[in-house]
Amino acid sequence: MGNQKSYKEELVGVFGHPVAENPTVVMQQAAFNHLQLQWRYLTVEVFPDDLPDAVRALRALNMKGINLTIPHKIAVMEHLDELTPAAELIGAVNTVINSEGKLTGENTDGKGFMRSLTQDAKIDPAGKHVLLIGAGGAARAIAVELALAGISSITILNRTKNKGEELQQHISSRTSCEASFVPWEGPCSIPEGTDILINATSIGLPPRENEKPQIRYDSITPSMTVCDVIPALSTPFLEEAKSQKASILDGLGMLVYQGAVGFTLWTGLEAPVEVMHRAIADEFASP
Ligand code: NDP
Repeated sequence: MGNQKSYKEELVGVFGHPVAENPTVVMQQAAFNHLQLQWRYLTVEVFPDDLPDAVRALRALNMKGINLTIPHKIAVMEHLDELTPAAELIGAVNTVINSEGKLTGENTDGKGFMRSLTQDAKIDPAGKHVLLIGAGGAARAIAVELALAGISSITILNRTKNKGEELQQHISSRTSCEASFVPWEGPCSIPEGTDILINATSIGLPPRENEKPQIRYDSITPSMTVCDVIPALSTPFLEEAKSQKASILDGLGMLVYQGAVGFTLWTGLEAPVEVMHRAIADEFASP
């Protein structure tokens, strides 16, 4: 018997609402095509009430997995068979792996950030002092992974007091990292001794790409590494940090690496990270 042709396609994708502007398909499909895999990444609008049916459909169609975006990252958890320890600690899932009918929830956001920090910015987080702006889903994933990687301390700055305090207590009680919370009440200085400053808010996200977090930019020093989660080639926040001669790290790396972690979990193959990065950077650069 010769090699039988197969027309079957393996399916993965993203469930979200709204989902139309989610660009993940560009990098995942570029990776599948590059490795000549018969895989498709589907960008699917799923309304909140339909999530249970959508997860059942995922099982019925034997999809290899799915990404979750707003508003499903927490709601999906009760429909899964198990969570990884990191997803459990973060309290949200952005990637589901379907292994012969068993659905496992993982969170790759913080891992994507960590890989970008260590590989692109060449920073070893162990022993570092971190100032994290924001306390939403991205901030939570980053804080947990940084704490697990052995940073010395994390200070959380957030507009809504109870969300910031809740994250601070979570990190203090569940990890060995020293965590503190500072309410964000107008432009504040970055404390001396901060090694890594991260914007993990949605400030700077299109269509408000000209906005930046209100901090005292003249308190940023050249010894700091300043990171943004906004997936863009640059942001006003990073431009300000650059003018203070700090090292900077954009959010594209985080986006690519979190996708690369998912790619490997689904396919078992090493992700072609450069192909994925080029695809998404081209997408962001095009009007
Ligand atoms: P959430 O809605 O969970 O959290 C948003 C955070 O931003 C909160 O801390 C919120 O503060 C703060 N915030 C928003 N607007 C303002 C404002 N005007 N002033 C002060 N604080 C504000 O969102 P996510 O955490 O899921 O996402 C945050 C960002 O991270 C998004 O831009 C997203 O695109 C990006 N992201 C990037 C990824 C990547 O791979 N590069 C991966 C995941 C997310 P408050 O608590 O006061 O509301």
